[in-house]
Amino acid sequence: MGSKHMIRVWNEIDLNEIKPRLLIAGSTAADCANCKEVGIPFDSRICPKCGAAFKYMCARVSDAAKEARRLRAKRPDLILIEFKDYKHDDARSAARGIWGD
Ligand SMILES: [Zn+2]
Repeated sequence: MGSKHMIRVWNEIDLNEIKPRLLIAGSTAADCANCKEVGIPFDSRICPKCGAAFKYMCARVSDAAKEARRLRAKRPDLILIEFKDYKHDDARSAARGIWGD
């Protein structure tokens, strides 16, 4: 078996592209970043409440390669992003009132 490592890749993505498609993973279930619904099963392709089609996933636990590996194994179809990166820019955008919330 080859040696596979979890390596983070920097990417330039519009938050408006991420937010409606982001699954925020907790330890036993996940939340929808779009409508804040909680308790979503990890294997859900769409949000049971708002119907968001998930494309991205992030872990609530930051900087944990072990957690990233666990989520990666659960959902290899989703793009794994760093929660801190998302949260940081989300807060900045909210301050500027981009989403008006
Ligand atoms: Zn939702």
